[in-house]
Amino acid sequence: MNKIPVAVLAATGSVGQRFVQLLDHHPWFEVVALTGSERGHGKTYGEVCRWLLAEPMPDWAGKMPVLPSEAASLNGARLAFSALPADTARQVEPALAQAGICVCSNASAFRREPDVPLLIPEVNPEHARLVEVQRKRRGWSGWIATNPNCTSTGMTIALKALQDAFGLKRVFAVSMQALSGAGYPGVASLDIADNVVPFIGGEEEKVEWEPRKMLGKLEGEEVHLAEIGISAHTNRVAVTDGHLVCLTVELAQRATPEQAATVLAAFQAPPPVAELPSAARPVIQVREEENRPQPRLDRMTGRGMTTVVGRLRSDPLFDLRLVVLSHNTIRGAAGGSLLNAELMVRAGYLS
Ligand code: NAP
Repeated sequence: MNKIPVAVLAATGSVGQRFVQLLDHHPWFEVVALTGSERGHGKTYGEVCRWLLAEPMPDWAGKMPVLPSEAASLNGARLAFSALPADTARQVEPALAQAGICVCSNASAFRREPDVPLLIPEVNPEHARLVEVQRKRRGWSGWIATNPNCTSTGMTIALKALQDAFGLKRVFAVSMQALSGAGYPGVASLDIADNVVPFIGGEEEKVEWEPRKMLGKLEGEEVHLAEIGISAHTNRVAVTDGHLVCLTVELAQRATPEQAATVLAAFQAPPPVAELPSAARPVIQVREEENRPQPRLDRMTGRGMTTVVGRLRSDPLFDLRLVVLSHNTIRGAAGGSLLNAELMVRAGYLS
């Protein structure tokens, strides 16, 4: 198949760089445009980007110009991966969708819009159909599809497996979130060295709402939020990559930790998703050691796309306790968005 021309918006940031790295040699997509803020216009990506990843910057990327995020500048890209800050995304992404470009966005700007899919392909691939509603309502030839906030991602994948098997009533979540989740330069070193910061602006609201949309049912033209109570505490810790979330879960139907472990380990993506190039293999890995998962040891499981679960045990107040780990800039951002784009291509929404 001819490769689909794609753009990366805000390619210079923490998530943008992950897109560039993951798109290197992608079997379906070819990068034809990289954008950045005004400070980079007229310069090359190699000159402007402070590359943060251990993998080298691809040669082709270093030579590309940094462009404005406007449809006319994107060299014919049909799909745009957006790592824009939310306030910029709110202006830029609809303009691109109106101009016929399909946008897979990491930004929070449109996640709550009723006609915008908030997608994790293993969890709610059927919600992709919302782009038909969106196009009809807004008169766009392109569309916007979003992926959830990086803390919601791993926990929603684990919760989906438990929801399907036992039903969910209430969830109590405490996160320990990596520094790369705050972008670059992110949290000042003097704030986080030797420290934990028990506040991340807007994060608890996202973690309490986004899983309910993804675990909800699409009926007709709208998603009915899952009737699950979620309470979240979100914390920034001195870890580079990988968000850890401790979950306490009340199930609709009681289950032992062993039964829950079996269900989590057996969780599969629906067939078309399992075949996609960026699919997580396995979707969930269950660790049996008493002290895993750990960010440093487990975040790259399945090329950073696998959700790693451990410490399954019963709970004296609710039913179950478990710890969930997910790589925030891969599974929780660029890798998740890439998988969404692959799902949209496979579902025929790019033709
Ligand atoms: P970041 O490291 O601060 O990067 C933001 C980038 O946006 C900067 O590189 C900046 O470019 C660029 N930018 C600003 N205005 C722009 C414009 N008008 N046009 C093009 N580029 C522009 O932030 P990040 O962590 O990558 O986050 C990006 C987005 O993804 C945010 O919406 C965030 O909430 C979301 N997200 C992040 C994570 C994560 O784990 N980090 C996970 C999920 C979602 P210059 O360098 O040129 O100034």
